[in-house]
Amino acid sequence: MRTIFIAITLFLLTAFASQTPAQQTDEQLMLKYFHSISSGEIAEWMTEICSPKYNGRLAGTPEYLAAAEWAAAKMNEWGIRPAGDNGSYFQWFDHPYTVVNEVGGLWLHLPQKDGATIKKSYSAPKDFYPGMNSGSGEVTAEVVWAGYGTTAPELNYDDYKNVDVKGKIVLMNRDVPYKDVRNPEYSKWVKYCYHHYKAENAARHGAVGMLYIDGNSANPNISYHENLVVTGIGPEPLADLFAGLGKDNKTLLSQIDKSFKPASFATGRVMTMKANTTRHPEGRTCNVAGVIEGTDPDLKDEVIIIGAHLDAVGNAGGLLVDGGLDNASGVIDILAAAKALATSGIKLRRTVLFLLIGGEEVGLLGSTHYTKNPLFPKEKTVTYINLDMVGNGTGLAVSASESCAGLREYFTAANDKYIHRTMRSSLSRGTYYGRPRSDGLVFHAEGYRTMSLSTTDGVKPVFYHLPGDDETAVTPEIMEDVAKMIYLAFIEMANADQLNY
Ligand SMILES: [Zn+2]
Repeated sequence: MRTIFIAITLFLLTAFASQTPAQQTDEQLMLKYFHSISSGEIAEWMTEICSPKYNGRLAGTPEYLAAAEWAAAKMNEWGIRPAGDNGSYFQWFDHPYTVVNEVGGLWLHLPQKDGATIKKSYSAPKDFYPGMNSGSGEVTAEVVWAGYGTTAPELNYDDYKNVDVKGKIVLMNRDVPYKDVRNPEYSKWVKYCYHHYKAENAARHGAVGMLYIDGNSANPNISYHENLVVTGIGPEPLADLFAGLGKDNKTLLSQIDKSFKPASFATGRVMTMKANTTRHPEGRTCNVAGVIEGTDPDLKDEVIIIGAHLDAVGNAGGLLVDGGLDNASGVIDILAAAKALATSGIKLRRTVLFLLIGGEEVGLLGSTHYTKNPLFPKEKTVTYINLDMVGNGTGLAVSASESCAGLREYFTAANDKYIHRTMRSSLSRGTYYGRPRSDGLVFHAEGYRTMSLSTTDGVKPVFYHLPGDDETAVTPEIMEDVAKMIYLAFIEMANADQLNY
């Protein structure tokens, strides 16, 4: 027994002598915390942050703030320092919001031969989805189809030109007739793409109701008009409205897209819309910001930011969307990596900022606020890395703008060496003239080098902005690997003598 012990000891001493003690310790420490990132803990945090007590994390609500406080408390527990306003974890901004109290209703009036009227009733969320920024009340009026709901005199285009919508319900589509988002010409149309513009324009023209053909899901935005009831509309009531008219929504739109000539018309159909909402004009909300300060006297001024929006689309009168994939997944990926980085004590020469963003769903308000009020100088920011819906699938992906294409290699190398998933690496579209649809594009538009991490080859159904996007909509195993990839890549990026952009 004693001989065997000595033999083993001698073997170990010889094996270890080939490496310096420091190297050995770094590698062992790195691997120890690499393995500490677990899908079990990730699943636990997903359940927490998707809990009904946070009520769908609608930015501005106390429930969103409670979720932000939960995340900040985690950062505090791991020794990640506050980087927000006045020594706190929170970076505040104004954010009026609307709470949908009841699901409301939608009815089509069907006149009968004997002069009576039958009302066909529709149900949510299949046939309609309550407008997240609707005024409160009940309206009954004729429905007027108004294409894209756009009035653009400088582009010689007006969906309201030949129709009178005063006191009427206006039925319209998302987007604009011009479709080539990669053409600079598109930039002239961008302001007409916003949901809040379309509601404003409907209210300006005196409409009392707005039926929005926009995927029939939760759609918060920044507009609110007391006297405009807004509802998303699904396929069945849309088909009923067009029945017997000899037209259909799709054909009309494709005609407009070719000719740029509006085709608006009064349908002759009458509908009743009902909504019950409460507006909170005094609303405020926040980003959550935590930092691991760099240890190198020269390099610590350089900051790597990784961010994900923490807010989701809330609870529309019982239609609760927990925001599991969108975007608890991104938040929890970041927190899992942050915990390993912070608690390992591994030296990071550059500074790392963890940014959980508020107000994304209503119009990218938190990222816009950050870029206007950066917590660290923009010129010292290495890159902003965005995660949105990163937790469903079997493959990994990284993309980057041309200004930091080289940084992708820190992530692909981490995967090649320790994770071994299939992984895609791409360049993000350099020129993009459309409405920014992610926090990453807000940073990109402000001149930051931006990257995004995502998962591919989805294995679970995606319930985009719908009930069903809960903690079961993600795969904790792929999230574990995303967190591990962030952890490894950040150790390399934070410590490289010279970053390879
Ligand atoms: Zn999202």
